[in-house]
Amino acid sequence: MVAGSDLSVDKDKCIGCGICMASYDQLFKFDKQGKSIVIESGECEDCDIKDVIEICPHGAIAERS
Ligand code: SF4
Repeated sequence: MVAGSDLSVDKDKCIGCGICMASYDQLFKFDKQGKSIVIESGECEDCDIKDVIEICPHGAIAERS
């Protein structure tokens, strides 16, 4: 299980391509600037955090420490 609170998006790396929302719309949404932000309350029961991180071709998604 992956929770939104497990993830972070680096706004400097995000180009707003939307790939993360297309695959994980329960975990990411666009902010007002058209960049991805984490849905803090979002959860994906069948997701693997490694897959979620690797979906971003720009390396903007990371596991929150
Ligand atoms: S896949 Fe990466 S670059 Fe594209 S919107 Fe999501 S975080 Fe931003």
